This record gives sequence, C-alpha cells and structure tokens, in this order.
Amino acid sequence: MKLTVLGNYGPFPGKDGACSGFLLQDDNTNILIDCGSGVISRLQRYLRIEDLDAIVLSHLHSDHSSDMYVLRYEMQIKLMLRSMAKPLEVYLPETPENYYKELDFHGAFNLNTISEGIQLDIKGLKFTFYKTVHPVECYGMRIEKDGKIFAYSADTTYTENIIKLAENSDLFLCEANATENIRSKSKPPHLSVKEACDIARKANAKKLLLTHFYYDEPKENYKKDAEGEFNNIELSEEFKQYEI
Ligand SMILES: [Zn+2]
Repeated sequence: MKLTVLGNYGPFPGKDGACSGFLLQDDNTNILIDCGSGVISRLQRYLRIEDLDAIVLSHLHSDHSSDMYVLRYEMQIKLMLRSMAKPLEVYLPETPENYYKELDFHGAFNLNTISEGIQLDIKGLKFTFYKTVHPVECYGMRIEKDGKIFAYSADTTYTENIIKLAENSDLFLCEANATENIRSKSKPPHLSVKEACDIARKANAKKLLLTHFYYDEPKENYKKDAEGEFNNIELSEEFKQYEI
C-alpha cells in the first residue's frame, strides 16, 4: 500500500494548507480517507475523481469532511453527463444527522454507515473500524493487505481502543494536535504528541506518523515534544508519499 498525505492540518488549514485527507493506494485501488477543506483540489494532482473507488470518512467534523459538500455537486453533474456511471461509494458514521443528510444529495453518493468493530473489504483492502473518544461519532481504522497493516487514529482523546487499532501496525498515522504548549493553555479533544508516542509504544507500531497539526503552532514544538519518545517517528508532510 502507499499513502499520500493531501492535507494534515486541523481544525483550520492556514495559508496554502489543507485539512485532513489521505490517499491510500494499492495496485489499481484508490481510496480517499477523510476529505477536509482543500483535499479534493489536491487529490486531482494524482488521479481523476472517476478513478476513486471509495471515500472513507472517520467523522463528520468539517475539517475531515467539508470538501464532500462541493464534491456532491460535481458528482451530480458527472452522473447527469454520464461521465460516471454510478455514484461514489462513501463509508461514514450516521451522525451528526444534519451533516449526514446533506450528503444524501441527488444520488451523488452511495452512503454506507460504519460502526464499532465492523469489517469491510474494499477492493481487497480489509478495513476494521474502532470507535474513538471525540465530541461526535468518530472511527479510527485499521487496514490490512498482504500482511501489511496501516492504522489511522482519526480524531480522539486517549483511549485503549486506539492501542488495539494500532497493534503491530507497519505505519501508524496518529493525530497529535495538542503540543505541551497548547495543553498548557487549553484542552482540545485531541491527543498530545506524547500520548500519540505512548500509544505507538504500547501498540508496538513500527513507524509513527503524526498529523492534524494546528497551523499556528510552530512545527518545532511538535518536534520538541516527540524527542526521545519513540524511535521511529516523523511529522507527516503534505504531498509526501509513504510506502506501507
Ligand atoms: Zn474532529
């Protein structure tokens, strides 16, 4: 599998940035995981919308889903002009209901709801979903193919479920929105860098890739918090590709 980071900011992209969005590819499979602001534009550097097999949304906070609300227009047009034969498959939580309903838009998407523990096979990639602790219904995911494991925390505060999700993963993409500096002033519903490292250690993850950065927080603060906490760690970079 190959992961391309399309956007790694949250909850706001800042100048020239994009919020959460990750393209997961394998052979002829193209799956978009999360679809925050700026993601759909960047996705088109790599493929056409027609080439997407599915979109998986961890939750319906706007920094993970807002571009779906413009993609629905384009899907409506593509279906009308018959440049696509069928709606896009979308996997997502069923709440908050008002956001979910807005995606039920003129047949643009085929909506499939996800829940704790369910397993899905999306073109040979085996997904398992784990509920996280967040203000809205949210799922992290573990994705397996040919003995390789990719794990994504989605948004969460500290929970044992994420340790299970990341167990023995080859690549663990984990949100670490809160630096110690941010934590000293506020308590966002997110993991800190140190917590992400703690989870990666307990899960025996091979590599930890951090994401969901606050745009106005210096990257140096994220790096400083990570020092000595985990042996194989990287701050994710937009447009960078990671082999799994
Ligand atoms: Zn969120």
